[in-house]
Amino acid sequence: MRSLAVTSADTPTSADMLPGDPIGARLQRLCALLGIAGARLSLLTDDGAEVTAAIGPADADLPALEARARAAGQPLVIASPAFYAGIVLPGETSQSAHLLSLFDPRPRSPGMASNIAALAGEVLARAVIAQQRRQIAAQARTIADYDALEEQRRSLFDRASATARIGVWQCNLADNSLSWTNGVYDLFEVPRDTPITRETTLALYSETSRREMEAARAQAIATCSDFSLDCEIITTRGKRRWMRLTGAVESRDGVAHRIFGMKQDITEEKLLADRTRYLAEFDVMTGLANRGLFQARLVALDEGRKRIGTMLLIDLDGFKQVNDTYGHAVGDECLKEAAARLLESCSGADLVARIGGDEFAVLLNADMTPGDAKILAGNIVEAMRRPVTRLGQTLRLGASVGVAHYRSGISAEDLFRQADTALYAAKAAGRDTSRIFAA
Ligand code: GH3
Ligand code: MG
Repeated sequence: MRSLAVTSADTPTSADMLPGDPIGARLQRLCALLGIAGARLSLLTDDGAEVTAAIGPADADLPALEARARAAGQPLVIASPAFYAGIVLPGETSQSAHLLSLFDPRPRSPGMASNIAALAGEVLARAVIAQQRRQIAAQARTIADYDALEEQRRSLFDRASATARIGVWQCNLADNSLSWTNGVYDLFEVPRDTPITRETTLALYSETSRREMEAARAQAIATCSDFSLDCEIITTRGKRRWMRLTGAVESRDGVAHRIFGMKQDITEEKLLADRTRYLAEFDVMTGLANRGLFQARLVALDEGRKRIGTMLLIDLDGFKQVNDTYGHAVGDECLKEAAARLLESCSGADLVARIGGDEFAVLLNADMTPGDAKILAGNIVEAMRRPVTRLGQTLRLGASVGVAHYRSGISAEDLFRQADTALYAAKAAGRDTSRIFAA
C-alpha cells in the first residue's frame, strides 16, 4: 500500500499538494488518497486553534481529540470506535504550527490506522520535496543561489519530516558531494553537520545492501530514472536498522547531474513483517520450518518450480510414554533436542520441518543419491537413539524413518504417501529403524 517512489521532477502525482492549490482541494486529495472521510488543518494559537481548511463531516468529539493530539508530542493515532489521526506540523515559529487531523466514523485495524498516519506524514514530506524541487528549478541559476535555497530547503524539510522519521539526501554527481537533512544524520546516528562523504556513508551499509544499492543507483543514473529499495544499515553506534531508500535522478540535456531522495527508518515495520513471516513459516518451539512451509515446497514441486530428490518422514517412537512418564515439559524439551539432532544430521538438506506433534520431514535435493539418503536415514536413527538429558531427567528417545525417492511423473502427494508407507513399515518392523519405499 505504501509507495514512496519519488516521481520525476515536474510531474507531481495526485499525492503531491501543489503550492497554488487552495488548501481545501489539497485536503480533499489527501482524503481520497488515504481513503478516509475527512480532514482538517488548523493553525495552532496560544488560545486554541483556528481552522484553516476542513473536508468531511466533523464529529462532536473532534476538538477534544485535537487537544489530545496537540499535547501528545507525537502523532496521535486512534483506530476505533472511530478512526482519528492527529499530526502536529511545526511552523517557522510557535505561532505558525499547524495540526492536521484525519478522521473517519468507521474504525480501522490498529495496523491500518498507523499506516494511514505514517502515509499522511510521508505525503506531507513529499509535498515539501515537490515544492522545493520546483523552487530550485525556478530559482537556482547559480551555485550560490542553490546553496542559499538548500539551506532553506533543509529547515523546511526537517520540520515537515520530524514526525515521519524521514530525511532527505542528495548527491551532486559532478564531485559526488553529499548533503543530508537532519533526519538522515539521525537515522545513521552521525552527529548533525558532521562532514560526510560517499565513502564513509557506504561503510554504514551491510554488504548485501551496499551491493544492491550501488546496482540500483548505477542503473538509475544510467537511465535517468527513479529507484526505491530497502537497505540494512549499521549506525555509527553499531545499531542495525532498516531504511527505505528512494532516489530520483535530475538530468540536464539527458545527462544525470544530481541524484536525491528520501531515507526513512522502517526498522519496526521490517521487524514486524519478519516476525509475521517467521510465525507463518516456522515452528516456534523447535525453530524448524513448519508444516505450512513444508506444504508450500510440495506445491512448488507440483508446479515445477522446485525439484526434490528424496523425502524422509521421521516419527519419534513411544513419545506418548515420555509425556506420560516425565510430564509435558520434559516432552517439549525432548522435541527441541530431537529437532536439533535432526538438523545436525541433515546439514545438506533442502528443508527440515516439524510437520506434526512428534513428526518431522526432511527434503533432500535432487543431487543427493539414493545411497546418500540411505546413509542419512541411518544417521538420523542413530542420532535419536542417544540418551537425552533435560530438566534433570535422562531418558532414551528413538525414531523411525520412512524414505521415498522422487521419480518423474509422480505428484507431491504420491511422494508423501510413499514416504508415509515406508515410515509405517519401519514402525511395524519394531521401530528405531528406517525403511525405503519400494515401488
Ligand atoms: P509411535 O511410536 O507409534 O509413534 O507412538 P507415539 O507414542 O510416539 O505416539 P504418536 O506418534 O502417535 O503421537 C505423538 C504424541 O506426541 C502425541 C502427544 O502426546 C505428543 N505430542 C504431540 N505434540 C506435542 C508437543 O507439542 N509437546 C509434547 N510434550 N508432546 C506432544
Ligand atoms: Mg510417535
